[in-house]
Amino acid sequence: MRPAVLGAAALLVAALLLGGCAGVSVPLPAAVQPAADIAVKTGAKAVRASRPISDSEEYYVGRAVGARILARYPLYRNPEVTRYVNEVGLTLARKSSRPHTYRGYHFAVLDTEEPNAFACPGGTILITRGLLKLCDNEDQLAAVLAHEVAHIVHKDGINSISQARWTEVLTTLGSEAARQYGGPAGQLVSLFEDSVEDVFKTIVVNGYSRSAEEKADREAINILRKAGYNPGALAAVLMKMQGKEGAGGIYRTHPPTQERLAKVQALAPATPPTGEELVRAERFKKLEF
Ligand SMILES: [Zn+2]
Repeated sequence: MRPAVLGAAALLVAALLLGGCAGVSVPLPAAVQPAADIAVKTGAKAVRASRPISDSEEYYVGRAVGARILARYPLYRNPEVTRYVNEVGLTLARKSSRPHTYRGYHFAVLDTEEPNAFACPGGTILITRGLLKLCDNEDQLAAVLAHEVAHIVHKDGINSISQARWTEVLTTLGSEAARQYGGPAGQLVSLFEDSVEDVFKTIVVNGYSRSAEEKADREAINILRKAGYNPGALAAVLMKMQGKEGAGGIYRTHPPTQERLAKVQALAPATPPTGEELVRAERFKKLEF
């Protein structure tokens, strides 16, 4: 086990044992509803086992997922580029329909030529140098980041933890052994690692469902509009990705299919840049990555 993951696992277990209900709770997502129905039928213990993942639990899972991604791709240590990506990203996150998370949004750049971006549950968004290079200007970068923010808004990463797995976590916590503290910690750490694996597989290997992607594109366009960026930049960046579906990285997890592009174009067609957009493009051009 990697030390970073172990640390995050221990923190999560501590957070859970100190009272999972103490975290900021979130409305019951549709995916949890069947468990809630069972809970109503089988009594109070099941009610406890059906609660959704809290914002703080989402954060600890996201932290461990981030550590796994950083084990694969090193950070790009360029303070100027990191500050710039954070400025653009935070502007977008504030205009999203989930402007606040447990520990806030953070953006970082990964040092690899592979074009890719990852939204770790809780609000850490990682974008590669390769994807920065694919963008022509700041508005296209904003489009990519807005799409990733939308995955945090919709909790697409954290919701990829299987319902059965999460129920098991909560049932273990609710057991008599958990109250005595000694027994279940090891079991919780391994359940936690399995939860992290569920999320990692979704955001790094397999990608989200097509409907989650369409919803993220729609939210990204709304965010871009509200933040004063050109919403047509999403279509523009998708057009640049066309024809590369066979390549790895983001082409694999976010296939820029004709159908996806057509839907995005219908909502916000790519348009020639405005004066303000050209000023932002100049700022983007000065960065080294
Ligand atoms: Zn996506």
